[in-house]
Amino acid sequence: MLKIGCHLSSAKGYLAMGREAVKIGANTFQFFTRNPRGGKAKPLNLEDMTAYGSFAQEQGLFPILAHAPYTLNPCAADENLRTFARETMADDLARLEHIPGCMYNFHPGSHVKQGVETGIARIAEHLNAILTPTLSTTVLLETMAGKGSEVGRNFQELRAILDRVELSDKLGVCLDTCHVFDGGYDIVQQLDQVLEEFDRVLGLYRLKAIHLNDSKNPLGSHKDRHEKLGEGYLGMEALTRIVNHPALRELPFYLETPNDLEGYAQEIARMKEAYQE
Ligand code: FE
Ligand code: FE
Ligand code: ZN
Repeated sequence: MLKIGCHLSSAKGYLAMGREAVKIGANTFQFFTRNPRGGKAKPLNLEDMTAYGSFAQEQGLFPILAHAPYTLNPCAADENLRTFARETMADDLARLEHIPGCMYNFHPGSHVKQGVETGIARIAEHLNAILTPTLSTTVLLETMAGKGSEVGRNFQELRAILDRVELSDKLGVCLDTCHVFDGGYDIVQQLDQVLEEFDRVLGLYRLKAIHLNDSKNPLGSHKDRHEKLGEGYLGMEALTRIVNHPALRELPFYLETPNDLEGYAQEIARMKEAYQE
């Protein structure tokens, strides 16, 4: 069975997200842990988390994907910004311990003018500070489009981060189809070769989730503009090959396309249709 969901608003809490997911035909979902632009998280609502836990069990909503605020920059030059990223992510991880079967995705960061080597070293330092041996959540590095000075624009940069993290068994990778295509990986014409390279550099066992997005821009454009499925440069045929690929078909897929709930429901139905049971 295809494991698929979309990004949902976390404003009304976990149980509300679970119910919304089921309503639109999803069997998983992604959400921001707090305002995506950073800021304070709401007080912990254990009652909601417990109620969600039983609902998720009933409906089989595992795993789900939490997404860190995208403005955090673990490799910022300014120490205050790095401290903010570290404290925010450590707090998110502490909270997520109450949510069973959860993964936590983040953008590695932008090195700005420090150079990619310094960026990588800072991101590894950040992870070494927040990962603990008892952590039950898997932390995912997202593959980036290479916009500006984003770190993680190719598989080698993610490899270099993994190599510097002590508890790297707590880490996985989330592959964003729009981002890797923007980064120059031709998943339309050469999906097998791209996945072989992923395996060679990172190991396919590290791949834990897919962000399933079409792209508004052609291969290698480094723009990071998501498009509705089938309306961009990836197209329905390539997306169908992706969800059915033997190396990917068991993974959870998350839509981050420009859609309202109705649009997401349609895309989910379409991909379920395209999936070969
Ligand atoms: Fe993201
Ligand atoms: Fe993404
Ligand atoms: Zn993106």
